[in-house]
Amino acid sequence: MPVPRPILTAELLSIGSELTVGETRDTNAGELARSLTGIGVAVGRIQALPDDFDTVRDAFAGAVGRADLVVSTGGLGPTPDDLTREAIAAAVDEVPVVDRELETWLRALWSRRGVPFPEMNVKQAWLLPSATALPNPNGTAPGWWVDRADGGVIVALPGPPREMRPMWADHALPRLVARGAGAPVASRTLRLAGIGESQVADLLGEALLRASDPVVATYARQDAVDVRISSRDVKPDTGAASAAAGAVGGSARAGGAAERVATMTDRIAAILAGHVWGEGETTWADAIGAALAGRGQSLAVVEVGTAAALTVLLGDQPWVRFAEAIAADSPTAREHGTADGLESLARRAMELGPAELGVGVRARARGADTAVSIVVVGPDWVQRERRMAFLGGANGRTRSALAAAHVLLTAIRAH
Ligand code: ATP
Ligand code: MG
Repeated sequence: MPVPRPILTAELLSIGSELTVGETRDTNAGELARSLTGIGVAVGRIQALPDDFDTVRDAFAGAVGRADLVVSTGGLGPTPDDLTREAIAAAVDEVPVVDRELETWLRALWSRRGVPFPEMNVKQAWLLPSATALPNPNGTAPGWWVDRADGGVIVALPGPPREMRPMWADHALPRLVARGAGAPVASRTLRLAGIGESQVADLLGEALLRASDPVVATYARQDAVDVRISSRDVKPDTGAASAAAGAVGGSARAGGAAERVATMTDRIAAILAGHVWGEGETTWADAIGAALAGRGQSLAVVEVGTAAALTVLLGDQPWVRFAEAIAADSPTAREHGTADGLESLARRAMELGPAELGVGVRARARGADTAVSIVVVGPDWVQRERRMAFLGGANGRTRSALAAAHVLLTAIRAH
């Protein structure tokens, strides 16, 4: 039995020609990556591979050379195009043998149904000297757990998600955790508005975005630019730890991951002040709903030229008392074409609600972009703003709604 090494890095192989010809979408790798990231194992690479022996063997050999853990899905079926077992055997230089216990279990599956056992399926009872089987209660292909000679691990899972998921969650993952895989992780996500991803990157600076601890990453999402700050508590006594500690030279660091993330989050929030409107999984509806609930207020919405984008963004909320979408090219829109006009539409919506707060948003094409007018009417205050939204059409309308949500939330919080 090789000396186990810490498992801090992983690579994922998704095997099957149906993936590389585009017949099937690879959902397995994404799910595994999320799960591994959650326990503090860094996924360095994800590959989809056709059912070709040399390709799959080389991919295993390469991944084993780079990562502590290699997880594959697919290619565990009984047919000659299912090559994962053969490829692993070749990559770790071992010869598969039929495992009597697995063979008995497998044959019983067929005799139970009174069907003759196809000899082709004996392959599913194979094991390597360094492998143990992971049970598959939902299919005929057991998975493999391979203890590599270099102290790392290979896990081979079946391709069908309904077989892959329980084998991962009930067998492979608990075993990895019991073996000490990963490291405590901490992460926080700041949600931003009124700023583009590249502007965020400019303000944060390259040094901060390239630092390896905490890792700071930006993501342009549909409803926000997210900045994710994360760190792992890697024990300082291992070689892998010094590699993972990167920027700080592998020395033991003061404080835990959570503390480092909190400090960095505060620093970033200060740099991006005015743009941070939420944290984590918070949606616009969550944030605006919470702000309104804290003040015992409800909302009326009126939109011009946005095809109800703001109403759709907020969704079906008890605190949205009234919502109206007016076509840009209509008599009502023309009659209320000024900032005062938009305010009077918002006031009418508040009366109809009735609601303590009103928001009006109007989107107009301005060249290739969209000019947005926003008015927020409170019990004893009014706020008006103009913004430019990037692009026109549906893009411009969606961004107009986001701008209005941002102005609205900022106004509610300010009063
Ligand atoms: P089986 O014993 O069912 O043949 P297997 O391990 O050989 O299992 P594959 O033949 O590679 O698995 O894939 C079977 C089916 O599982 C595919 O046709 C596809 O529907 C699904 N599948 C395979 N890989 C993935 C993947 N990466 N993401 C999502 N679905 C997948
Ligand atoms: Mg198959």
